[in-house]
Amino acid sequence: MQDNAIRRYFHNIWMTVYTILIGMRTSAKYCFAKTVTVQYPDVAPTVQQRFRGFHFYEIEKCIACDQCAKACPVDCIYIDKTGPRKLDKETGLAQGGAMTRYAIDYAKCMFCGLCCDPCPTGCIHMGNVHDMSGYTRQDMIVEFTELAKQGLQTPQPLWMHKDRLPEWAQKRKQEWLQYAYSDDKLTGDNELRREKMLKALEPSGPVKKKKTSEDALTGPAEKQS
Ligand code: SF4
Ligand code: SF4
Repeated sequence: MQDNAIRRYFHNIWMTVYTILIGMRTSAKYCFAKTVTVQYPDVAPTVQQRFRGFHFYEIEKCIACDQCAKACPVDCIYIDKTGPRKLDKETGLAQGGAMTRYAIDYAKCMFCGLCCDPCPTGCIHMGNVHDMSGYTRQDMIVEFTELAKQGLQTPQPLWMHKDRLPEWAQKRKQEWLQYAYSDDKLTGDNELRREKMLKALEPSGPVKKKKTSEDALTGPAEKQS
């Protein structure tokens, strides 16, 4: 009886030491493993090509058709316009009513990307910005129409508003601005993309009708008679 008690006593001691060793084995393995901590934001994070970050939105091509908002499973896209908008096939730009609001509530967004697929003009994309902070829930609503006034297509994290930034962040900011202040290769004209973005915030004339072969043959005078 006493032997059993002594055996159980030492067995418990052994089990305690053994289970601690099992736990420490995992810890010890990581002690000698290569460090993988990325010193963000001093060092740029590596995001994969198919990463779905905060959206990248090209307001100049948006026809405010609501397809993205309808596809969104959590109803976090808000769109307002003053009138119908249509894509002018000649210029590749949307015309018609003004875009008065295009906003996404990132407190609700789950970055599923379902809003991008149905877009008929391909103007909403999942971007590569992965962080955004704010002090209130309201701060989580990104007004893309306001960003367009600054020539931006994607929200900037708060810390990126600082003057002193790591080199990679400065480069990225520069790239965003270069995009806005560059000629639009799509239309081949010399107008800066930023100006086109601003135009989307104002109502414009009706979309020019493309000339049909019938127009070319008959001419406008003959058509009236
Ligand atoms: S990523 Fe998903 S949740 Fe976010 S706005 Fe698009 S459809 Fe909605
Ligand atoms: S982003 Fe695309 S789908 Fe959404 S309203 Fe604009 S054109 Fe329509």
